[in-house]
Amino acid sequence: MSAAPAPKPAPERLDLAGLRAEFPIFAARGAGFHYLDNAATGQICRAAAEALLAFETRARANVKRGVYRLADEATQAFERARAEIAAYLGAREAREVVITSGTTHALNIAAHSLCARLRPGDEILLSRAEHHSNIVPWQLAGARVGAVIRAIPLDDEGRLDLDRLDALVTRRTKVIAVTHCSNVTGAVTDLGKLGEAARSVGAVLVVDGAQRVPHGPVDVQALDCDLYAFSGHKLFASTGAGALWIRRELAEELPPFLGGGEMIRRVTIEGSTFAAPPHRFEAGTPPIGPAIALGAACAWLAGLDWARIHAHETALLDRLLSGLGTIRGVRPIGPAGLQARAPLVSFVVDGVHPHDVCQLLDARGVCTRGGHHCAQPLHDTLGLEASTRASIALYNDAADVDALLEGLEEVVRRLA
Ligand code: PMP
Repeated sequence: MSAAPAPKPAPERLDLAGLRAEFPIFAARGAGFHYLDNAATGQICRAAAEALLAFETRARANVKRGVYRLADEATQAFERARAEIAAYLGAREAREVVITSGTTHALNIAAHSLCARLRPGDEILLSRAEHHSNIVPWQLAGARVGAVIRAIPLDDEGRLDLDRLDALVTRRTKVIAVTHCSNVTGAVTDLGKLGEAARSVGAVLVVDGAQRVPHGPVDVQALDCDLYAFSGHKLFASTGAGALWIRRELAEELPPFLGGGEMIRRVTIEGSTFAAPPHRFEAGTPPIGPAIALGAACAWLAGLDWARIHAHETALLDRLLSGLGTIRGVRPIGPAGLQARAPLVSFVVDGVHPHDVCQLLDARGVCTRGGHHCAQPLHDTLGLEASTRASIALYNDAADVDALLEGLEEVVRRLA
């Protein structure tokens, strides 16, 4: 008789206490602090905080220009950060990464640089789920060249309705700009279909990755997009820096958006020629310390066990969605299931304004956000003015979710 197969070792659990210890705010604020506003900004990790402090207090100099050693060291640290960010994004080369002040700046570069190539009547296809920073720059830049904005509708769950894509993508479509993950519904976009559609008409696919990158490294090559934007402050680094990845062949062709020092080859009063990418898109002194912090965050995050973190975040999302479903008068919006969904949930409490919900929750140490979340077209589509949002990050635990649910029970008891 053959021996019974040895039982598989139980998968090791996530060391949540160890993970939380890497985020200084939890020790600083102590027990009873339940931070569920991660979609607005994540808490800074120790690696990023230490890198920022080290640069600003021990190694500070401007980059790209000095010849003394300190300036050279600063430039090297800045370029190392670019490479760490590139690795987190799965970019082929560090020079495909433009350092920006965040997603908004990145999407403004994308819109203004790409629209400079458009003709009147060309079309830019967005979706109704976009954050205002992936709508307004296209309206501003598009208006200058007479481009037309069109929008992908949403289905009943708030996902992009891609069944009608054929009718929306035509030979006039030059840009498709969509979110990788909605900051209101958590719905993750099926970029494969959009990439295919863009390819079929020679359009460029721009992706707003602000809400996707805090849930693990991405692979821009596999995503088949052309530009990818995100903010460092949502990726557990400091405020002030983010990135725009631009596929190299495209970056070489694009004109700059902002002009100034450090982005030129030669300037005369009559005209200027521009540096190669990424410097062409980095006018002026970049956010050096925040970029170095972002590189440190990317390098630290890249070493984590994301399969385990994903399971942990999904279990918390499940706990949150199930709990919300049991509270009378609380209606979650967005997809009902856990598939293709980031761990964030917006909801309505019947008869109670989101700001009142947030204030009562805050009295219990629970940080959530109420409002339109810079996504008015999405709220219009759902027939809502505003909602309350709870967003989960890798360091959250069941106590955070339970504190929110208990707080909501009280909201309903007292205000609804
Ligand atoms: N896009 C999405 C999906 C977002 O959630 C946010 C931030 N709420 C932004 C863009 C804008 O990011 P930032 O304010 O850091 O530029």
